Amino acid sequence: MAEPESGMGENYDASALAGFLAVAVEAAKGAGEIIRKGFYQTKHVEHKGQVDLVTETDKACEELIFNYLKKHYPCHKFIGEETSAALGVFELTDEPTWIVDPLDGTTNFVHGFPFVCVSIGLTIGKVPTVGVVYNPIIEELFTGVLGQGAFFNGNPIKASSQNELIKALLVTEVGTKRDKETVNDTTNKINKLLYKVRSLRMCGSLALNFCGIACGRLDLCYEIGFGGPWDVAAGAVIVREAGGHVFDPSGGDFDLMSQRAAASNSHLKDAFIRELNKSE
Ligand code: MG
Ligand code: MG
Repeated sequence: MAEPESGMGENYDASALAGFLAVAVEAAKGAGEIIRKGFYQTKHVEHKGQVDLVTETDKACEELIFNYLKKHYPCHKFIGEETSAALGVFELTDEPTWIVDPLDGTTNFVHGFPFVCVSIGLTIGKVPTVGVVYNPIIEELFTGVLGQGAFFNGNPIKASSQNELIKALLVTEVGTKRDKETVNDTTNKINKLLYKVRSLRMCGSLALNFCGIACGRLDLCYEIGFGGPWDVAAGAVIVREAGGHVFDPSGGDFDLMSQRAAASNSHLKDAFIRELNKSE
């Protein structure tokens, strides 16, 4: 379990935080039902960018989650991927803020590849405090609450104990930009890192990649230039509560709003940062 950081989270006791988690899990389960139904049907796909997809399921899930959370917490703040896509700017304040990716892994969803999830995070004092990541297709529920541990389908989880980079499993993604410079940067980095680790996975969901670090089936994760805070708000607290680290790929502090994130178990952080910096 991570030491609770100083922040407004201190104003909420353990049972208040557990209450937030219970409501978030209910919201995630509700959205999960929509995803499960849509998964086996023909999808109506729209493009947000050249390869960045959105479906009616993304939008329906965000609506369901926001309605549910707002009914319970009308005074809290809300940031959602699809609302932000429609309305533009958003800012993160110290207020309790629900940060929601109603469907992470939309490309997987469209292709029927079963790594899709709902990601619901709550920040208090800008610190990720409650996290729920739920894959309704293969029934995997990851949860974490600051100071209360991380769980996978109700059982406590820990990041891996691997301490050799060459035996580590790395996960990253190639993002949604297809200009030559971005693609070259991304693939050059992967090229250099591949000589240092055992192998590489791209599972198509940063939220689930973070949960993979938390439960120890992946050892190292980074992504630069992903969609927004909704991809990592929940995963960050789950990784930390599982004893893993969340940080900026440069080695600096993790900034939820920066669209840059890395995570690792507790043993490989420094070695991973060295290799990430060499691969610049
Ligand atoms: Mg999404
Ligand atoms: Mg996403």
